[in-house]
Amino acid sequence: MTDAPGLRFGPRWPLPGRARLVGGESTGSFVARLAHGNGLGLAEFLGRVGQGQASADPERVERYPQSTEMYVNEPGLRHLVVLSGLPVELLRRALPSLAEEYVLPGGREALWQWPWEAENGYPVRRCALCGYARQIGEPVWLMSPQPWQVCLRHLRWTDDSRSQEPSFVDLRVLPECSRAHQERLRLMRRFKAAGTRVFADASRIVRCWWTGMPDEPLWAERAWRAGLGARTSRAVPLVTYPETVAVAWSMLRFEQTGRFGTADRTRWLADMEHLMAGAGLDYAVGRDELLRWLDDRGSGAPSPGPLRGR
Ligand SMILES: [Zn+2]
Repeated sequence: MTDAPGLRFGPRWPLPGRARLVGGESTGSFVARLAHGNGLGLAEFLGRVGQGQASADPERVERYPQSTEMYVNEPGLRHLVVLSGLPVELLRRALPSLAEEYVLPGGREALWQWPWEAENGYPVRRCALCGYARQIGEPVWLMSPQPWQVCLRHLRWTDDSRSQEPSFVDLRVLPECSRAHQERLRLMRRFKAAGTRVFADASRIVRCWWTGMPDEPLWAERAWRAGLGARTSRAVPLVTYPETVAVAWSMLRFEQTGRFGTADRTRWLADMEHLMAGAGLDYAVGRDELLRWLDDRGSGAPSPGPLRGR
């Protein structure tokens, strides 16, 4: 590790080459594109933003935007404004990690940091075809609330995997996962926070299910079609997407009834057994997790609001 020298009084002029802003991009990804567009390595560019800790190996520094996010303090942000030639409002609107709550403390010297893990999401590769459509040839990393993204325009799945290949999955080979994604978007649009909460619960439960039987033919076959290793954790959210969304909808319907008596719980568990058996999965493996989820449901359980058309 080495300290990169900061410029004592900061940069005064913008770099000649500009980088187009992409909404939701990570700061690290943006500065990497800005640096490369001006013929600079990322390590060299960082020396112009301020002081921070980076690996002495420039190749490792080049991989930072893929592994984590870059955070700056207020003077560091001002240097970014000068170097990019873009007003702070525009930078902040496009780059979520420049929001005030993520700005580093310390106000005199310009500082930047790349923590081991990003603090406000996951750096997920943006669909490259969307980039080409805007004449952006370099990889773009988005700050995503979950460790994956789906581009419905080009039917591509991307994730935060630190391994290079495959850099995306073509969802045309997994139409059931594409449909599951649209179902999830519908759930989120209609139920907002409650939709997010049950999807997180369902994801956790189905992941436990997967851990109990990673060689389940239904999921292994999807991983094979996706070109991912069946036992790799990066495959899990994708290969289990249809079942996760089905479980999430079932949870919402159950909460919506507002009835959590013994008979209601038994009926819901029977529905879940039916759902899992229909997918060819062993219900017994996930039963304990479902019971744990049920334990938290009671008279005080939050209601997701009216459920219509489902
Ligand atoms: Zn796309």
